[in-house]
Amino acid sequence: MAKHKTHYEDCDVLVVGGGMAGTGATFEARHWGRDMKIICVEKANIDRSGAVAQGLYAINCYMGMQWGENQPEDHVRYARNDLMGMVREDLGYDMARHVDSTVHMFDEWGLPMMKNEETGRYLREGKWQIMIHGESYKPIVAEAAKKSADKIYNRIMITHLLMDESQENRVGGAVGFNMRTGDFHVFRAKAVIVAAGGASHIFKPRAVGEGMGRTWYAPWSNGSAYALPIAAGAKMTQMENRIVLCRFKDGYGPVGAYFLHLKTYTQNANGENYEKKWYDQTKELVGEYIDHHPTPTCLRNHAFIQETMAGGGPIHMVTTEAFQDPHLETVGWENFLGMTVGQAVVWASQNIDPKYTNPELTTSEPYVMGSHATCSGAWVSGPEDLSPPEYFWGYNRMLTIDGLFGAGDTVGGSAHKFSSGSFTEGRLAAKAAVKYIEDKKAEGLKVTDKQCEDYKAKVYKPLETYTVAQNEITGGTVSPSYISPIQGLQRLQRIMDEYVGGIATNYMTNANMLKRGLELLAWLEEDLENVGAEDYHQLMRAWELKHRALTSQCVTEHTMFREETRWPGYYYRGDHMKLDDDNWHCLTVSRRDPKTGKFSMEKVPVYHIVDENEKKKAS
Ligand SMILES: Cc1cc2nc3c(=O)[nH]c(=O)nc-3n(C[C@H](O)[C@H](O)[C@H](O)COP(=O)(O)OP(=O)(O)OC[C@H]3O[C@@H](n4cnc5c(N)ncnc54)[C@H](O)[C@@H]3O)c2cc1C
Repeated sequence: MAKHKTHYEDCDVLVVGGGMAGTGATFEARHWGRDMKIICVEKANIDRSGAVAQGLYAINCYMGMQWGENQPEDHVRYARNDLMGMVREDLGYDMARHVDSTVHMFDEWGLPMMKNEETGRYLREGKWQIMIHGESYKPIVAEAAKKSADKIYNRIMITHLLMDESQENRVGGAVGFNMRTGDFHVFRAKAVIVAAGGASHIFKPRAVGEGMGRTWYAPWSNGSAYALPIAAGAKMTQMENRIVLCRFKDGYGPVGAYFLHLKTYTQNANGENYEKKWYDQTKELVGEYIDHHPTPTCLRNHAFIQETMAGGGPIHMVTTEAFQDPHLETVGWENFLGMTVGQAVVWASQNIDPKYTNPELTTSEPYVMGSHATCSGAWVSGPEDLSPPEYFWGYNRMLTIDGLFGAGDTVGGSAHKFSSGSFTEGRLAAKAAVKYIEDKKAEGLKVTDKQCEDYKAKVYKPLETYTVAQNEITGGTVSPSYISPIQGLQRLQRIMDEYVGGIATNYMTNANMLKRGLELLAWLEEDLENVGAEDYHQLMRAWELKHRALTSQCVTEHTMFREETRWPGYYYRGDHMKLDDDNWHCLTVSRRDPKTGKFSMEKVPVYHIVDENEKKKAS
């Protein structure tokens, strides 16, 4: 322990995670907090970290208000429809009304935006998407953060939040370790913004063995955004709302641009439009939601899954028609080169030229996230001008712990933010965090050395465990006295896969399976006390695993609580196969008691703010 040096840093605003939301938060914190000390801590290197590390080909959330293309209300309606009614409309509206200004800054900062030659406007790929040459998207936003922060710490994984010891339920900072030097870092902060991305690899991925890193969501997104607040006792929402993606098989290349820009379509192995075939069956399950336009993403997945189970697979994307046009062929390939190079490599290895062969599609393993087409995450306060009293407690995007804010994948209830919306939400959280400090809400914080030292002992325990337990290795990595992070990860993934609705069961679960899953997760938690790490990289893996395991418990508790199948295609409760608006047209909220480790669950009303005034006027 003594060999790990401790560094102390006192600051005003601490941003945990320097991805899209974290860079947005760091940038905006400087705008409002000119004289404040602003620190951003990142597990990787912010130049190429997070889900946007490889670049993107489209900004998926842009209103185009200046040209009257869309208004924030339209986006709320869209997200509400896609999530089968379950969104925080106050948060969605708030993000949407600010997102255009974010995109305009990206443009000013040099992000190459494609333009429509006839209109001079940004080139639309779909109603919400605009096209970019986005290989350098992440370094560009990182530069804005670097110029704004007092200091960016790269290669430090935050493992725990610090709590104020003078006032209950108030945050006091965070601790973590440097994966290169092994040093321990204590950040005492007046306000903390968690922006640590979503969670992949909690369910067993389709690609295993040496291909295991090939998932759709970033493999390094390990659920810290959820585990940090859950461990501290913050409330979470909609954690059952995991996402399953329909993507090109094996490479997980995105399909959006193909559908929207190349106008490609899908068909089953017999060349049939299989979605139509499942209309009546889906209507039985979800009622009129199947008639909504656009068809909610989960319901399109549902048709895919049913068709495959009925023996109609493989499902193909019909590319051979669009790719005859040389321009569209170029667009089709470029779409991968700026975002998912691996898909092009996979096709090359499988001898697939989409000009002549229709490539196969698949549905992914589930991921947990709050910024894409689902909305798992922390239960946060909305903005004061929009939110009903139950959704507002003083500061925008503040969690149920004072001084703790969230943005991007961290925040629940507000889907379809994507890269631009996550950056925007980071800005909103930072503005509120600065105000929280200016309002003197963080006065008298007390974080004792004892609290920090206790965490230090915990953080390095896997190294100690390995040092002792390696003497008992009987062969390879087999030891009666410790488990390695990879062994623990594979055990976690199997539990989630087989009991909580992963690919093994075609996304099916029920109360009995979930109950068993929770038991197995509890035993895993016990065994993770004996996870061993042979070096600092493995120490990171150990803490990633612990964060994933805690996130998984929360997901399972939520899935157990919601006794309906709200999103067929994302997961099924076999014991409650139908959508049940009478009992479950509500948001689910959990809290884990940090002292006992027990979760409590509640239903919270979902308020439909947009269109509600019109309805009231009409009645
Ligand atoms: C494959 C894929 C394709 C996508 N396509 C598009 C698209 O075409 N258009 C679009 O607009 N959006 C797209 N998105 C969505 C977009 O990337 C996300 O919405 C956005 O990146 C979320 O921002 P975030 O800051 O919450 O998470 P991230 O950007 O992932 O950032 C999280 C950061 O936290 C860091 N971190 C994690 N844990 C810790 C820890 N414990 N301590 C310190 N740091 C930590 C991570 O290293 C990372 O840098 C896509 C996402 C994926 C995965």
